[in-house]
Parts: sequence; C-alpha cells; structure tokens
Amino acid sequence: MKPLPSPSTLYVLNDAILFTGEAMVEGHSLLVRNGLIVDIVAHRSVPIGAVGISFADHILAPGFIDAQVNGGGDILFNAAPTAESCLKIAAAHRKFGTTHILPTCISDTPEVTRQAIQAVRESRQKDSGILGIHLEGPHLGLEARGIHAKEHIRGINQEDLRLYTHDSGEIMLLTVAPENATPQYVHALHENGCVISLGHSNALSEQVNSLLEIGASGFTHLFNGMGCMSARAPGIAGVALDDRRSWCGIIADGHHVSAEMIRLALRAKPAGKVFLISDAMPPAASDAPQPFQLCGETIRVENGCCVNAQGRLAGSAITLLDAVRHCVKHVGVELDEALRMASAYPAAFLGCDKKLGKLLPGYAASAVALKPDLSACAPWFKKLPVSG
Ligand SMILES: [Zn+2]
Repeated sequence: MKPLPSPSTLYVLNDAILFTGEAMVEGHSLLVRNGLIVDIVAHRSVPIGAVGISFADHILAPGFIDAQVNGGGDILFNAAPTAESCLKIAAAHRKFGTTHILPTCISDTPEVTRQAIQAVRESRQKDSGILGIHLEGPHLGLEARGIHAKEHIRGINQEDLRLYTHDSGEIMLLTVAPENATPQYVHALHENGCVISLGHSNALSEQVNSLLEIGASGFTHLFNGMGCMSARAPGIAGVALDDRRSWCGIIADGHHVSAEMIRLALRAKPAGKVFLISDAMPPAASDAPQPFQLCGETIRVENGCCVNAQGRLAGSAITLLDAVRHCVKHVGVELDEALRMASAYPAAFLGCDKKLGKLLPGYAASAVALKPDLSACAPWFKKLPVSG
C-alpha cells in the first residue's frame, strides 16, 4: 500500500488555464501546500521535488460556493437534519465543483431548526466545506411564503435570538421578511454576527429599506417569492435592484428566472453584487432523482425542475455548475463573470472572501477543474488535503 503523502507535501497543479477569480492565466502552475495556495509560478519555475498533477485541457477555477442548498444526492436536509445528511449533501454537490455550501433549513418547527443548527456544527468538525447554515424562514411573509408550510411561519422572539446568536465560528445566514422580522430583532441579529438576507416578502419599499439601514445585506432568490414591481410600488424586488450595497442571490436554472430578468439584475446592480445559488432540492446531484416529500406535498422532477402536484416550483434540481452553464449558454454572461458569480461574489456576501473564492496565494486550495465548454468537471480536490 502506498503511504499517504505528508500534509506538508508541495503539490503543483500543472497544464491548466488558471482562472484566479480575477483573470485567466496561461502558462502558469498553482503551488499548493497544506490545503493552501502558496504561489502561482510560470511552468519553468516550478520547484524541484513538488508532486505534479496535470489538468491538461481544463480550466482550474475557484471552487463554487453555494449559499442555498436544501438538499442533494436524494437527501432533504429538513427531513433528516443530521450531521450525516450535511456530509452527504456536501459530498454530492462537490462532485460538480461546489466545494463549499450552506445547508439550508426551510421554515419548520423550532425543534427541527435547532437540530439543523446542531447538525451543521457537528458536520463542520469533519468537513470544512460546510461553512455554516442558512435558515430560510420561519420568519417570512405569510402571503409570499411559496412552498413553505403556513403553520410554521411566525415572528422572531427572544428564544430565536438566543438560538441564532452563536460563537462557534459558522456562518449563520438568515432569510427573513419585514412582515415577521422587526427592525429591533434584525439589528440585534446583525450585531450578533448573523448575515441577514431579505426574501419571501410582499413588504413595502419603506419596510425593506429600513432593514437594509440596520444590517440586512442581501436578498434571497431575487424575483422569486417577491411581490411585483410597479411604478409607485417598487416592493422588495425594486429595492433589491436599486440598492447599491446589498447582494442578490439568483436561481439561474432556466425555470425560476428568465434570461431577460437575470440580465436586468446584472445591469442594475453594481459589479459583484449578483451571485448564483442553486436552491437545490434532493434531485440535484443525484444519479437517479426520486420524488420526495416537502411540507406534506409530493414533489417531482418535471422538465428539469422540482414541482408540486399543481406545477408550482419547489426549489431546483441543479447544482451551481448547471447555473454557471446556463448563464454562459443562455443568458450571455461571459465565462469569467459566471465563474465569479459562483465563487468570489458569494464569498464576499458571506464575508469569507479573504480565504475563499479566488485562486491566489494565501487562499484555500479549493478549486474545480472544468472543461472549457463546461461539459464536465473533475473533482480533483479529492486528491488533495483541502482545508477551507
Ligand atoms: Zn425560498
């Protein structure tokens, strides 16, 4: 049996076009040690003794970061909120280049929410690709709740504040709506380190702006679960497009948002403020997608998207690789920008852009090897000790 390489082994990732997150670089290699990028050097300057891995005919890009993952590999996080589920979901998405995820728990009982938070904390001991948790609800707008179960939608209380306040290092992303999240609570959550995203809401623009003023920094699945924009009532979507500081997650699966609306969002927001999320459900990253139960309804995959019996959308069946592919092939986004939308931009939103989202010295060696036509990706990170 071959001995495992020492963690201090110097690896050199050769022969690929490097996309650093800033530019495409040819004729250079990536040096990696202890899961961190040490340097980018010209091929002729590779140190003697480094262990070479070839990625000929591939682009090496920063690993994708998915801030909204309800499930994958036929597992629904809400249905089994355990550390094992987190690890399996992360492994399923990783095969398609998503190196970092936030397992996402949708509106449920306080007990399930509590279990989900605990599960993520436990799973992070074994997989640094699990960055934290996204709690999408239960503090949403009742009318704009979409597939979320009516009986779970409610306001925030002191007990919730204690539950969401943490010092264990994980990212705590909360999707809330002005209808059920008062400015006082949103301010307190922001002060306690939570990332606040607004969504599933029909709130007035004044209410939305008041939460942006006191710490909300994002919008969850832009256009989906948001009331209409009109001339005198911009609503949450209008504010999301107009606001210069906040980020917008968007589901680019070809079903949730039209290409026109994705382009509109990209033109309206400053560069770097629109990022891709999968909103993945169990059929994503599955070899043989099965129908599943969600909020008492049977959800099946039809024409590549998850729908209930009435044909209402219930999350997606994609990974971020599919979203990148859709943006390039059907929306007209340049490849480098689509890659940033899946890595550097969500890293900035989540506040981990000093170590994730780029392939530069000092960053985590979390990368994905892609065929230039995006037809396939190689999960090469399995071969390396990767620390996030
Ligand atoms: Zn949602």
